[in-house]
Amino acid sequence: MNTFEQFEQHESGIRSYCRSFPVIFKQARGAELVTTEGKTYIDFLAGAGTLNYGHNHPVIKQALIEYLHSDGLTHGLDMYSEAKERFLETFHRVILEPRGLGNHVVQFTGPTGANSVEAALKLARKVTGRSNIISFTNGFHGCSIGALAATGNQHHRGAAGVPLTDVSRMPYANYFGDKVNTISMMDKLLSDPSSGVDKPAAVIVEVVQGEGGLNTASADWMRKLEKLCRKHDMLLIVDDIQAGCGRTGTFFSFEEMGIKPDIITLSKSLSGFGLPFAVVVLRRELDQWEPGEHNGTFRGNNHAFVTATAALEHFWTSSEFADSVKAKGALIRERMQKIVRRHGPDSLFVKGRGMMVGISCPDGDTAAAICAEAFERGLVIETSGNHSQVVKCLCPLIISEEQIHKAMDILDAAFAKVMAAEVQNKAS
Ligand SMILES: *Cc1c(COP(=O)(O)O)cnc(C)c1O
Repeated sequence: MNTFEQFEQHESGIRSYCRSFPVIFKQARGAELVTTEGKTYIDFLAGAGTLNYGHNHPVIKQALIEYLHSDGLTHGLDMYSEAKERFLETFHRVILEPRGLGNHVVQFTGPTGANSVEAALKLARKVTGRSNIISFTNGFHGCSIGALAATGNQHHRGAAGVPLTDVSRMPYANYFGDKVNTISMMDKLLSDPSSGVDKPAAVIVEVVQGEGGLNTASADWMRKLEKLCRKHDMLLIVDDIQAGCGRTGTFFSFEEMGIKPDIITLSKSLSGFGLPFAVVVLRRELDQWEPGEHNGTFRGNNHAFVTATAALEHFWTSSEFADSVKAKGALIRERMQKIVRRHGPDSLFVKGRGMMVGISCPDGDTAAAICAEAFERGLVIETSGNHSQVVKCLCPLIISEEQIHKAMDILDAAFAKVMAAEVQNKAS
């Protein structure tokens, strides 16, 4: 009997990650996944950045177990609950206030990243009375229609079935290389009443493009973007769904850049436990919603409030964790640079920031072959990028140095095999 019969018979062909990792997983702890057959894999995908604190982190798990045992509320629409009260207080005290965002408020949206992006775009349009949004080449913001309009990826856009409108695409930082100033380009387009670019409500941007292939914006570019927003009266929305919650070495990906976004979207690792949870963080003056004007049944996932609160208290009340992310990010980058020097100094290069780093390959087929080889050797790792050419490390931030070295040894062997085969192919 086919091992995957239940899935292949009864689940839609939409399934995708499982095709790269054809095993059945049963358990997961920290940075490791275990299959039904007892094989262990190091997880360098981590729920596409949803498991920054690893699988089943003991402190977070214990908080949830205690909450379950006490019959704490599970679902609460947007009613006041003790768990939500604690989350709001903790998020304000531990994250927002110390980062100069104490006057931002939290909007709970439906639990996915796309839900928070939809809410952010809708709010920007409501507040400014304008419909156009600027988003960037290779940006990814989700697959619901509004978020998809802002997303660049053609594979996803192609499935929309309706026109994706009210977005003007602009070149991201360094899209044309480091000699072309894409901010001045935008400034010119926005200053010219006949450029054909309708005056935008907002700009939505990722500081590190997660799905788009680990393209990074510099602090200088982000500061200039913020200035551009002020000049042209556009709101600045930072989509920190993937790069936030510590991935780049700080809680927010932008916080060492000296900018203050009007609106921030967070989801993925926010619950700290892989539970669905998303918020929009917005400047108080923008909070012009009428009660219930933007709604959603699952805006009160109290389990996620509990786990998110535990994660904030455990990881973010001192600088120790953020420092460890910076150190591990540097270690991963160093190991990746070694792989590049060894197996393709002319065709490979390292991209990204913090623990959001990867190796760019000549093409998507090469990157896919490397991920497949890595999987054979016990490492779950995926690609990203406009040609799916970037082998991308999104491991849990709590991973040990020993596990990093083990994973990097695997990656080194996978690159060795695939790059050697490519050289041979070219020669023959
Ligand atoms: C994953 C992601 C989203 C969409 O989140 P979903 O939960 O998949 O809807 C939006 N923006 C960014 C930057 C993301 O990485």
